[in-house]
Amino acid sequence: MSRFAYVNGQYLPLSVAGVHIEDRGYQFADGIYEVIAVHQGRLVDEEAHLVRLSRSLHEIELAWPVSKAVLKHILRRMIAINLLKNGILYLQITRGVTRRDHAFPKPGVTPSLVVTAKTMKPTPPEMIERGVAVVTMPDQRWKRCDIKSVALLPNILSKQAAKLKGAYEAWLIDEKGFVTEGSSTNAWIVTGKGEIVTRPLGQPILAGVTRQAILALAKEAGLKLVERPFKPAEALKAQEAFLTSTTSWALPITRIDGKPVGSGKPGPITLRLRQLYAEALDKGL
Ligand code: PMP
Repeated sequence: MSRFAYVNGQYLPLSVAGVHIEDRGYQFADGIYEVIAVHQGRLVDEEAHLVRLSRSLHEIELAWPVSKAVLKHILRRMIAINLLKNGILYLQITRGVTRRDHAFPKPGVTPSLVVTAKTMKPTPPEMIERGVAVVTMPDQRWKRCDIKSVALLPNILSKQAAKLKGAYEAWLIDEKGFVTEGSSTNAWIVTGKGEIVTRPLGQPILAGVTRQAILALAKEAGLKLVERPFKPAEALKAQEAFLTSTTSWALPITRIDGKPVGSGKPGPITLRLRQLYAEALDKGL
């Protein structure tokens, strides 16, 4: 299947799609992005992603490159021309093309908008049956991780370090020893008392759209929820741990720094939340 990208008003074959080398996204990582899942040809939690996109744009003082209605149309057209059934749309907005200078360009420079599409296979069953491993490491990111910035170097270095240790994800640790989040996922535990714990929203973490959906589903199911920070030592004493993201849904974590979490097997609450999320997707989240 040939793939098409949207680049500043044009739908182009991916092989020829490109941006100018003086785009501020390329030069400075001066931009933000979103990853929206497509499930059975339909956008998942579109509104929540557009709310977060709008917030990211506002925080970096960047205007919408097109109206929200036009953007929604572009996303749908991308699904259609890529014949996308299950996968993701990647959407990036940068501060446009201009002579390289750190300060914002003069008014009149239009932000760049790029959208790409990718087919994705379902998570391999063994990852769900066995759970995944995480390793902890210092959080070396900036202090505005609530902005979905394209500047992902610390996240990339952490993910690669985790991969080299045979782990699926890195859990990032703040100066006080608490877990902030994963390099591309939100972090959760389930305590011995059956409380589902995740760090509250704030500048140290990204407001995961899946995090929000899982919180709502857990609440609806009458499960106990607490939004507070936790340390790796508490996670190792917990019954369960898991991560959430657009592409992973809720995925069990069964090892932290090589040590087992709870029984060392995926826990019932994590699997229930994953099931509830899958059902919500089928119903149309
Ligand atoms: N934290 C970080 C740092 C991320 O990059 C992501 C994925 N974009 C998440 C959390 C999960 O967010 P979402 O559920 O919206 O995919």
